[in-house]
Amino acid sequence: MSASPIAAAKPLIGDEERAAVDRVLRSGMLAQGPEVAAFEEEFSAALTAGRACVAVNSGTSGLHLGLLAAGIGPGDEVIVPSFTFAATANSVALTGATPVFADIEPDHFCLDPAAVEAAVTERTAGIMPVHLYGHPANMTALGDIARRHGLRVFEDAAQAHAATWQGHQVGTFGDFAMFSLYPTKNMTSGEGGMVAVADADLERRLRLLRNQGMLRQYENELVGLNNRMTDLHAAIGRVQLTKLPGWTKQRQENAAFLDAHLRGVVVPPVAEQATHVYHQYTIRVPEDRDGFVKALREEYAVGCGVYYPIPNHRLPSFARELDLPETERAAAEVVSLPVHPALTQEELDRIVAAVNAIAGAGA
Ligand SMILES: *Cc1c(COP(=O)(O)O)cnc(C)c1O
Repeated sequence: MSASPIAAAKPLIGDEERAAVDRVLRSGMLAQGPEVAAFEEEFSAALTAGRACVAVNSGTSGLHLGLLAAGIGPGDEVIVPSFTFAATANSVALTGATPVFADIEPDHFCLDPAAVEAAVTERTAGIMPVHLYGHPANMTALGDIARRHGLRVFEDAAQAHAATWQGHQVGTFGDFAMFSLYPTKNMTSGEGGMVAVADADLERRLRLLRNQGMLRQYENELVGLNNRMTDLHAAIGRVQLTKLPGWTKQRQENAAFLDAHLRGVVVPPVAEQATHVYHQYTIRVPEDRDGFVKALREEYAVGCGVYYPIPNHRLPSFARELDLPETERAAAEVVSLPVHPALTQEELDRIVAAVNAIAGAGA
């Protein structure tokens, strides 16, 4: 095969982003300033129904500071999925609290409400659902559990900008929600994170924590970090935000095409209450997933990813003996195919032909 490789993910950076960075460079004001403030307002209006947003230097910082701002710390337990990127549980552990891993439901790869309920103890302080791959977690059932047990809800919306559950944008359900702005996410600022908050107290604490505990220069009110976003990054993010609706629509159209044409693999179902924004288009290959991935890459030059091959609870950093059967099955079966908005029709056709050929050959 001599066809050029199809990338698994592709950040789209245009002349508008370059011009925006140049504008900030020429202004001479590079650190957190007016661009960050404008980005926070625009993000809030576009993606969190007006909830206040606080920009930070990464999604991981956003989770960490959000938890600190919410008062999570030693002695607390926070229920998280094991089937996610390690930043979810890491952020809990870094506060001194204990991440408690619960299993996922098999259709959408998100926290299983029944498993969450079973994991609640007298130490449980919160639940951190992940809207994995751009599909929302079941916020109705998780919200019910949280209310009944007096728990807080922290959304890891790193992969789910503009996804909705029952018509409401993700990021508007929890005490706070974090959106990642890493280059492979649905929009980027280079590196960065945005935290949407439910109330003014949490917002104030987040703003303090990201800036050494100061709102006014040298009047440090509490012990904080430097997790500020720069105006350079915010300028990129502001442009990307204007392009997000078009990209989301393109991801959804690409996914619909794959849904309609793939054969012999399990395509991703979407809950009736949800809109999926397809950060990843993740299929299940129940037999010999690794052979399938190797063939896709090496024989057909189709880039693809396995997110995530090792569940968090089995990573050396956590090393817990737990029985999470759906988590284990997902880790063994998932393959994410290219779905990003830069794909051409010719590339989509090649992806379909490759998957169907490998799946058919294996059947
Ligand atoms: C990307 C990601 C994060 C961390 O975001 P960064 O911006 O890379 O720090 C956290 N959780 C999930 C589910 C992610 O995909």
